[in-house]
Amino acid sequence: TDTRTFIPFLNNIEERYFKLPKYIVADAGYGSEQNYSEVLHRNRTPLITYNTYRKEKKKKYKENLFYVSNWDYDSDNDFFTCPNGKKVPFQYLSNRTDKAGFKRTFRVYECEDCSGCPLRVHCTKAKGNRKIFYNAHWEQQKAYIREQLSKEETGEIYGKRKIDVEPVFGFLKANL
Ligand code: SF4
Repeated sequence: TDTRTFIPFLNNIEERYFKLPKYIVADAGYGSEQNYSEVLHRNRTPLITYNTYRKEKKKKYKENLFYVSNWDYDSDNDFFTCPNGKKVPFQYLSNRTDKAGFKRTFRVYECEDCSGCPLRVHCTKAKGNRKIFYNAHWEQQKAYIREQLSKEETGEIYGKRKIDVEPVFGFLKANL
C-alpha cells in the first residue's frame, strides 16, 4: 500500500536528492502511526491526513452515538460512558506488531454489562460485552495533525498539494 512506500520515499529523497523540507505533505494514503512517528523523528512536521480525517468532520460522524470518540471519558477514573449509560473501564494493555515490525499499544476497555441492552444491535456484534481498543499514541498524533491543518499557514501549505501534485497524474493518465 501507499503507507509502506512512505519511509523508503523519504530515504530515497535524502540519499539521492536533497534535505527533507520542513513540512512533509502527503495525502491520507500515507497517514499512519509509523509514518507520523518517522517524520517527527526526523524533526519535520507531517502535513498528512489519515483515512478518517474527512469523515470525522461530518455532522453524521459527530452525532453518531456509537463512536467512542463521541463518548464521555472520565480521566480521573479512566472509563468511558456508553450510550446506554454503562461504564466502560480500562482492563489491560495489548501490544500488536504489524507485518513491518511496527509495534502499537492499545488500551483495552470493556463495557461493564451489555446484556439486555436495547441499543446493542447498533453498537456491537460481539457475543459478550463491547470492547474498545484505544490507541492513545495514534489518537494524540491525529489530534496533532488536526491542529496543524487547522492553522492558516500549514493549512494553506497542505491545500497546495492537490494543485501542485494531483494534476501531474491527471496529465499522465490523459496523455498515455
Ligand atoms: S451494547 Fe454495551 S456498550 Fe453498547 S450501548 Fe449497550 S451497554 Fe453500552
